Amino acid sequence: MTNSKNTQTTPSTPDAPTPLIPSPSHSDSTIRINAALIADANHYFAPGSLILKADNSAWQVHAVGHPAQIDTLPLPANTKTIDLPDQIIIPALINAHTHLDLTHIGPYPHDPAGGFVPWLDMIRANRLLDDDAIAASVNLGIQKSLNGGTIAVGDIAGAPNAILKDTPITTLAKSPLLGTSYLEFFGIGKTANSIIHTLQDYLDAHLPKIQKQLQGTGVTLGLSPHATNTISIAVYQWAAQTALKHNIPLSTHLAETLEEREFISKGTGTQRGFLERFGVWDDSILNEIGNGEHPIDHLIPVLEQLPILCAHVNDAPDQTIDHLAQTQTAVAYCPRAHTYFGHYERLGPHPFEQMLEANINVSLGTDSIVNLNTPDRITTLDDMRLLSTRDNTTMQSLLQMTTTNPAHALNLNPTSFTITQGNSPAGLITVPIASPGLPGEVSRSDGGGLLSDPLKTPWQSAMHSKHPPTWLLFQPEFSGCHYSPSSAQ
Ligand SMILES: [Zn+2]
Repeated sequence: MTNSKNTQTTPSTPDAPTPLIPSPSHSDSTIRINAALIADANHYFAPGSLILKADNSAWQVHAVGHPAQIDTLPLPANTKTIDLPDQIIIPALINAHTHLDLTHIGPYPHDPAGGFVPWLDMIRANRLLDDDAIAASVNLGIQKSLNGGTIAVGDIAGAPNAILKDTPITTLAKSPLLGTSYLEFFGIGKTANSIIHTLQDYLDAHLPKIQKQLQGTGVTLGLSPHATNTISIAVYQWAAQTALKHNIPLSTHLAETLEEREFISKGTGTQRGFLERFGVWDDSILNEIGNGEHPIDHLIPVLEQLPILCAHVNDAPDQTIDHLAQTQTAVAYCPRAHTYFGHYERLGPHPFEQMLEANINVSLGTDSIVNLNTPDRITTLDDMRLLSTRDNTTMQSLLQMTTTNPAHALNLNPTSFTITQGNSPAGLITVPIASPGLPGEVSRSDGGGLLSDPLKTPWQSAMHSKHPPTWLLFQPEFSGCHYSPSSAQ
């Protein structure tokens, strides 16, 4: 359609970041790093010291602990020491739900009073059709993810004008990031039968080729039936059976808005209007909705088939939380999207703490850059900051939801996202504390802040800072996370 050579430049695949610690130069190299805090989902040391030893071409954690403990260890005389007294060290982050192919749009203001459908129309109007342009948008999103210390993503590969596109998947596979790219589709009412045939034909023609292309890249293909208001139960059931047959992970949007609840429980409202406007609605849809059911209960027969990564789940009354736990449903909560769309005011705080207590695997996601307040980066670091400063969410919960929990949800090795003795982390990042040595200064200029003493600890200080993180270590190829077809049988 467009002459891409003359009218646009395609940002090429982003390079892997240059970490502070390069690959080991010798097989017996040892490095000691001292920082204000070293923390992962399981433990923390403040201050902390970390010893990395070369294991072939990768760095392996030899020891982690309080500096005094580490002082007692016998270390080679040529051990190099890096002091980072004004930084915290945490594992590289995972973003369980994003839309990298919308990155070209950038942050976009939204008035929640106008409802969700006008926003969807804006997204539809801005969706790219040209493969080079889609690849450029995804590459921009990959660069912004790397800028934010993100090493793995659960990405949704959108279907512009209902055309299935594997460009986001192959673009992600060429990049330094790990993760799953979920091919999105829509099918309800008049399009329910046709999407099953279209997808079946697409998978028959492309699945072996795509899976071959993905081998050894650390990226897997998933499927994403869009949401309960755009996918009939028959299409969901077909997707579940197909996923089980081919060992393909599934993700969907669930219980995101009040409009979705009205649509499923009553069969009315703006989501119905949306389907009518596009000529998709037919009255057969009323056979499965309009019975007073909540969207989560509506989807239970599908969630019972296999664990599905469900994005948002903002609208989850108490009784539905047990159902999510029983079906081993994983949740990707997107705190900044929740705020941007006004759900905090309309639906109340997200019940993620209650979900975690019920042993539901909750991860954090960013959703697309459109709803973010950080134009330069796409990272759950800033969602951790929102939850830490607004809700006092604990460090352990935040690190679980951005490292080990999303690793489970995306079928990555959770240990690669910890700082565990004997293991090679996929990556490590440092985050500056807000004002080293001068916590009182920052506290006063903050007008007192939300907490009585917000900068009491290095963690709280790093959560109050708005600085981007820095890469300390980047070695996803040694994380044991790369896809291997034999292990996926
Ligand atoms: Zn989404």
